[in-house]
Amino acid sequence: MSDEHKSVSAWVASESSAQLQGVLEDAWRVSGALDLRGWMLLDGRPCERIELWRDGALAARALRVERADLAQAFPEYEHAERGGFALTDAASGGRDAPVTLRAVSHTGAVVERTLVEREGGASASRPCDLGPQEIEFKPRTPSAAGGCDSEPGALYGVSIDTTSVCNLRCTICALERDYDLKAHMPLALFARLEDAFKQLRHISFSLNAEPLLNRELEAMVALAKQRSNGRITTSLATNAMLLDAARLHALSEAGLDALEISIDGVKRDSYLAVRLGANFERLVENIARAAELERGGGRAPHVSLRWVMSTSNLGELPDLLEFAAHVGVRHLVVNGLEPYTAEQSELTHFTRLGESELRAQFEALEDRAMQLGLRLDLPLLRPEPYTTCELIEHACVIRVDGTVAPCSPLSYSRAFYFEGREERHPLIGFGSIAERPLLELWNSPDYVEFRRKALHGPLHAACKTCLKRSGVICPLKHWNWLAAGAPQPRR
Ligand code: SF4
Ligand code: SF4
Repeated sequence: MSDEHKSVSAWVASESSAQLQGVLEDAWRVSGALDLRGWMLLDGRPCERIELWRDGALAARALRVERADLAQAFPEYEHAERGGFALTDAASGGRDAPVTLRAVSHTGAVVERTLVEREGGASASRPCDLGPQEIEFKPRTPSAAGGCDSEPGALYGVSIDTTSVCNLRCTICALERDYDLKAHMPLALFARLEDAFKQLRHISFSLNAEPLLNRELEAMVALAKQRSNGRITTSLATNAMLLDAARLHALSEAGLDALEISIDGVKRDSYLAVRLGANFERLVENIARAAELERGGGRAPHVSLRWVMSTSNLGELPDLLEFAAHVGVRHLVVNGLEPYTAEQSELTHFTRLGESELRAQFEALEDRAMQLGLRLDLPLLRPEPYTTCELIEHACVIRVDGTVAPCSPLSYSRAFYFEGREERHPLIGFGSIAERPLLELWNSPDYVEFRRKALHGPLHAACKTCLKRSGVICPLKHWNWLAAGAPQPRR
């Protein structure tokens, strides 16, 4: 049976990874070519993409597919028309290899399930006789938003401004102009998260500025790892100007799990046109060093490149894929531009480009990424209408002075442009960890009520013009650590 071509259908309406696991874990052992068709929903919504990985390499990928027949079958389900997928992997090599189905929801929740596993290296296989299945259908519930086991209302992730200053002056950034605090967070203030270490699953050590400017950064990473016995995953986003060999190794030794490096141009001039004050040669050198460390397979953070896409640099994205493959980075995340000026609002991908034109460009990028074996996360083609926000259900941000806010847009007051008109993100804070423990602030009545309204409506006025919630910032950027497919902490 192992070399036969398998054609498999699965109908999966999944509210959680546990439910999905129930469908797949006992399903198949297949080593021939594989046709996989189905209907998969996560978090009550159609998946943004479904990928089939064989032996660690991306074999096939489907973006969300429209299925009018499913919409008829499940009229009570508002997204049923868009959950279908069809994947074919012909390149089996005739051997038993792990096959993983990876589904990503619009909120960035990721679910991975291995369909075929090696058994002690033997090519054991058994008939694949799974017919079409209909899995119990559940209406969407807010607590399912994370895509993995989670307690309603629990805090699992924080992003922290370990500093509020930067060594660059990027044209796309409001930090220098509008963030009124200029400081580094002291280790002693970070250590006041003590009560939350036992509950948190992820800490990002960056939010609005350049974290490597804080000389106590490594001590903070190490403290989070130590206090959680290695369980908390850790990441940071950086412009990499200070990511020399000593810093890279120090962060790695401290236990950093993921490095997100900003790059908005792969040519010297285009990069420097955005990243004012940066050094392109140093960037390339520092990316290559981090990628090499990761490839070495030892203690090293996972490296991804972050690209803020505008109509100015969209045409350079194919070069980014080649660059990443060349330097050995396997993961790219593309975000849309959040415009802070009227001029920038003319440069966003969703105002200037037709949807079909953009879709064609995205699909060409997806195809090339697949050929190169890269993971590519893209923003939505258009801002998506929304009436609720799940992004803050299990997460918050902490400013450099310890103030706790729901999300980055609400972490400091600044002007921005939404549908061509000027709006303003206010600061919405719920107290400071300098005064009260984080979990106490998280469970304070005002904050609980804010989150309840975010999940069930009506949204706060400040939320009704949020490009982050509408998917302009790649939805996969946020809170992947909640999902079963998120990187595991390194020990
Ligand atoms: S590197 Fe980041 S924080 Fe610094 S100016 Fe540029 S966008 Fe802003
Ligand atoms: S809608 Fe936007 S501004 Fe409002 S809570 Fe969600 S992420 Fe924050």
